[in-house]
Amino acid sequence: MQETKTGVLVVGAGIAGLAAAFAADRAGADVTLATKAERPEEASTWWAQGGIAVTRDDPEQFAADIRDASAGTADPDAVEVLVENATDAVRDVLIDAVGIEFDTNGDGYDFGREAAHDEPRILHVDAQTGKHIHVPFLNYVADETDITIREDTAALELVRHEGKVYGAILERDGDWAPTFAGATILATGGVGALYPRSTNPDDATGDGIAMAALAGADVADMEFVQFHPTACHTDEGTFLVSEAVRGEGGVLRNGDGERFMPEYHPDAELGPRDVVARAVRSERDASGEVRLDVSGFDFAEQFPGLAAKCEGHGVDWESGIPVAPAQHFLCGGVAVDDRGRSSLDRLYAVGECSRTGVHGANRLASTSLLEGLVWGLRAGEDAVGHPVERIEPPELLERDPDLPANFAREKFRRLRRVMDQQVGIERTSEGLRRAQGVLRRLKGEVDAYVRTRTSRSLYELRSASVVALLIARAAAENDESVGCHYLADADAAAADEQVPAESP
Ligand SMILES: Cc1cc2nc3c(=O)[nH]c(=O)nc-3n(C[C@H](O)[C@H](O)[C@H](O)COP(=O)(O)OP(=O)(O)OC[C@H]3O[C@@H](n4cnc5c(N)ncnc54)[C@H](O)[C@@H]3O)c2cc1C
Repeated sequence: MQETKTGVLVVGAGIAGLAAAFAADRAGADVTLATKAERPEEASTWWAQGGIAVTRDDPEQFAADIRDASAGTADPDAVEVLVENATDAVRDVLIDAVGIEFDTNGDGYDFGREAAHDEPRILHVDAQTGKHIHVPFLNYVADETDITIREDTAALELVRHEGKVYGAILERDGDWAPTFAGATILATGGVGALYPRSTNPDDATGDGIAMAALAGADVADMEFVQFHPTACHTDEGTFLVSEAVRGEGGVLRNGDGERFMPEYHPDAELGPRDVVARAVRSERDASGEVRLDVSGFDFAEQFPGLAAKCEGHGVDWESGIPVAPAQHFLCGGVAVDDRGRSSLDRLYAVGECSRTGVHGANRLASTSLLEGLVWGLRAGEDAVGHPVERIEPPELLERDPDLPANFAREKFRRLRRVMDQQVGIERTSEGLRRAQGVLRRLKGEVDAYVRTRTSRSLYELRSASVVALLIARAAAENDESVGCHYLADADAAAADEQVPAESP
């Protein structure tokens, strides 16, 4: 592989990377977009179902909904940036440039409404909005711009020196070389591969967060891992059953056929995701299973894509869809400002791998595509105009063909088990302490291999082990249950404090 140079290097081709590349190209930069994906389905963007929220008549209410969903922890300035730029970004880029036709009804756009949104404000295409955005956006970037696209090409390591980033080492087919860039934008998505059950694509190993953290960039809010309450797990894999199904009247029933959500939250099935996820888990533990009863409305008519998916997975939805929580989204990531700038010079992060402050401790549904779009555009624009400088790149070791085939598999199994049991939907201080011990040892074992050989799967494993430790550490340092960070022992202690002392 040849050493190359580019004005702006974007790593990742989900909505955030595409938006960043689009904006940098429009601002006149020479742009390279590298993605380890070979197919669009390897980005979470492709899988998004419900849609993308936009600002309608009441921006203040949209901002309030985001802040409320985050339990008051979202950064108000970041929320304002999102809300103020939402409609222009969607209209100018997705509708006018890329030509996406969001669903309409007789009155114009058919705005959908999801849990914790005060009004219908979600643009969608069927219930498969992600692929209807992602594929045309990829085609637009390939056909209508001068962006150089490098598929099946993974960034392994940042090229950096003294707080400044000069590009990244890119790998393809076991061969690698540096690409030097005036600015580098990480858009590598989420961390689903750290958990045994996730709605994300399999290779969401948190590479961008790991590369940035190893280079010394600040990361924040890593403990806030969101679990979706209703994923369906079959031998064929895991798929998400969107909140919109509960919005239409889907009802959760335990193994005894009883509806249970009204006992857990006044908004029942439409309560906050973390509350519903914990309730589903607890009812499954107690009664063996939880099903989403969709008999109250015409499921096949309203969700044809989901009905087909159930059938493809051998699920008889007429007797209720079996559901369980699954890892879904990371609210934290590389800490960035309102233009996606990280704490390192010339390094940006956008989309799910970044922490803008918009989500705080919990994310409002249908705001992450929007965050990726808005921050992608702002970062892409800001990243233009820096000189491309060459420095001595880090030396990676020759590939050793003798990497044991089951090495990564075994380590991933161990990592996922500890993340699921100790750093999952419910945590305890003791569990987090033990998890850090296991993860530190595991990272040590992986690092020892990374020092002797180079391969993409080994670097993905390294990313996963770095990010897992960041999550466990952040969770251990936060002794307050908030948003999607739930400490069962803190909760029990708080409950104890409220019990009145017995009279003598
Ligand atoms: C099933 C599902 C449903 C969802 N529904 C919605 C919804 O309705 N509305 C909403 O707003 N959000 C939704 N989300 C969340 C949303 O889809 C994601 O948060 C968002 O798409 C993330 O976009 P991104 O561009 O940051 O990352 P992604 O779309 O995940 O893209 C990451 C890209 O980075 C590449 N990459 C990763 N590592 C490397 C590397 N080392 N080198 C090179 N390339 C790399 C990947 O191959 C990929 O191209 C959903 C998510 C899932 C999984």
